[in-house]
Amino acid sequence: MAPQHSPSPLERLAALPSAGAGHWPTPLHRLERFSREVGREIWIKRDDVQGVALAGNKLRKFDLVLGQAVADGCDTLVTTGAGQSNSARTGAAVATALGMASVLVLSRERPADLTGNLLLDGLLGAELRFVGDLSWPELNREVERVVAELAAEGRRPVAAPVGCSSALGTLGFTRAFGELDAQLAAAGLEPSAVVHTSTSGGTHAGLLVGRAAADRAVRLVAVDAGSSFADHATGCLVLAREAAALIGLDLALTAAEVEVEPPPPGDRYGLPSAEATAAIHLLARTEAIVTDPVYSGKGLAGLLRLLRAGRLGDDGRPVVFWHTGGYHALFDPHYAASVVTP
Ligand SMILES: *Cc1c(COP(=O)(O)O)cnc(C)c1O
Repeated sequence: MAPQHSPSPLERLAALPSAGAGHWPTPLHRLERFSREVGREIWIKRDDVQGVALAGNKLRKFDLVLGQAVADGCDTLVTTGAGQSNSARTGAAVATALGMASVLVLSRERPADLTGNLLLDGLLGAELRFVGDLSWPELNREVERVVAELAAEGRRPVAAPVGCSSALGTLGFTRAFGELDAQLAAAGLEPSAVVHTSTSGGTHAGLLVGRAAADRAVRLVAVDAGSSFADHATGCLVLAREAAALIGLDLALTAAEVEVEPPPPGDRYGLPSAEATAAIHLLARTEAIVTDPVYSGKGLAGLLRLLRAGRLGDDGRPVVFWHTGGYHALFDPHYAASVVTP
């Protein structure tokens, strides 16, 4: 009898059900004018361009979480986020594209007007529940409460936490690393680092698992734009281990090997900064690519800070900026005012 084939971690990753709402691979291209401006070859991975409801990094996580939810016969997504949550909006979009309902638990009072992501939530037909200013753990508990409420009504809800950074959601970025790896190989590129914005940790954790699975040596730098964890590196590592375990991968990695660029003094989650605004202007005015003051603009500012401090290596190898999306928040007057003077 032939010995039974036991699937490898990458085979297990490939076999996970997908919602099919993304258009992958997302583009990877060189930034000509921006690179000249900053004196280093910078490439960009365009997760701001990838499928339903104007894209963003959460699409990769919801792709797996809702792919599994459909397989499990669920009918309603319950998820959560900040007042201008990209994650909740993306969850609602993927759910809608699958014929599922969605309930979004949002950390703010009900606003007079629905702008930015909230406008899209309304357009997609999501049910919005404004719960006032709650912490991330409180929001996750509220999700569990709504799930219990819907289940008692005979619905079949599926929960996704803040940022959709569950272990399964995280594996969306393990797949994404494989996508980037193939693009780098095809372009003959060996970047010194991949830099991206990080908050709930799933993006970074997933990339760490993907790097281990692909066995490629590239620095991965998480720019902390307002971590959900007490210690961001440890939080990402714990999440990476949980995600790796789902595909049977042993992750030999220590917290010291998880690279986090901390926020500058005085910076807070959701608070626009002069440094981020300058980075947003530079990319917009050299390449016509739009980033935002809460997430991707802060990641880009972190990249420029590292570059100026000589902390991205001096070998002149290219650097990849992973654009995680999020420009929707600009269409909220609060954030609009941080990037253009009325
Ligand atoms: C959520 C988000 C991030 C951070 O990703 P995590 O996986 O939560 O760390 C970065 N950029 C944008 C635009 C986001 O919405």
